[in-house]
Amino acid sequence: MSAPNSDYDPVEVTPLRADEVERMRDEALAAIAAAESLDALKQVRIDHTGDRSPLALANREIGALPPAARKDAGQRVGQARGAVNQALAARTAEVEAVEFERRLAEETVDVTLPVDVEPVGARHPITTIQEHVADIFVAMGWEVAEGPEVEAEWLNFDALNLGPDHPARTMQDTFWLDPESAAMVLRTHTSPVQARTMLTRQPPIYIVCPGRVYRTDEADATHMPVFHQVEGLAIDKGLSMAHLKGTLDHFARAVYGTEITTRFRPSYFPFTEPSAEVDLLCYVCHNDPAEVASCRTCGGEGWVEWGGCGVVNPRVLVACGVDPEEYSGFAFGMGLDRTVTSRYDIADLRDLWDGDVRFTEPFGVGL
Ligand SMILES: [Zn+2]
Repeated sequence: MSAPNSDYDPVEVTPLRADEVERMRDEALAAIAAAESLDALKQVRIDHTGDRSPLALANREIGALPPAARKDAGQRVGQARGAVNQALAARTAEVEAVEFERRLAEETVDVTLPVDVEPVGARHPITTIQEHVADIFVAMGWEVAEGPEVEAEWLNFDALNLGPDHPARTMQDTFWLDPESAAMVLRTHTSPVQARTMLTRQPPIYIVCPGRVYRTDEADATHMPVFHQVEGLAIDKGLSMAHLKGTLDHFARAVYGTEITTRFRPSYFPFTEPSAEVDLLCYVCHNDPAEVASCRTCGGEGWVEWGGCGVVNPRVLVACGVDPEEYSGFAFGMGLDRTVTSRYDIADLRDLWDGDVRFTEPFGVGL
């Protein structure tokens, strides 16, 4: 501290006395050193550097001194305030570092602790195969078509050459909606989507229709009153059975692998003429004489029924507004539930409907 000044009046301006300034500074430094938290430091800052702090008030008194004494007093107070500010900054940095370390320690996550994993579920194998089949046909330039599950009787039957006396129209096979006079059914196949498409669009038509269909079967291990089909329809100039066979061979190879063999057997469907059942050479026993007898997949037949197909009956084309003189086409339909159960060796169809996530989990990845 500087030497006493002869013009200095210690009685009138007590706060500016050297010992008083030192006392204020030391008090502030002690408070800073004692502060253990940022909150405490905030209070110290207000108390010792704020507008109402002793050193700030002392600073204001400098103007009251005689001019000769001002420099000395100003230097004394300025140095004291500088020391306090420096100490405050240093202590703040220290406390911040300590608090940061403490937070790190408190918020540490032990990644080795076991946790409860939330079940995420899985895609149903029927959904997966529907999308897989749609992808196969979209890759060939076909379109995916959909229609309502509650369908007009005419579109479900008449438009497809299923006359009023056809067995599929009896109460045994079909869910009819009340009142019966409304002539509405739960669709028994996805074929009305084909009729709807032909009625609303001009050929060429290449559509694939995956969907849910209904029959009045009792639910058991091999039958369900609701199941899934995929149907395809192509209408263009000059289409024949050969195009149908080529398309289904490609379809079969895309689903079952390039080694699969198909065969056509003559059959009858009202909406196609000629018609055929299409079978797959059993993909488990390959009709090998040594294995076929005990094969569960084909039941000893050597072949697995896959679906029905044929050249679209001209009467269906006429009913749907397509000129059979100009256009021809082919159609096919397969059950998807059977494809899934045989592919994954699922013994009971009802497993597909139980909604048990433990069933779907193994199918969580693509087909
Ligand atoms: Zn077999």
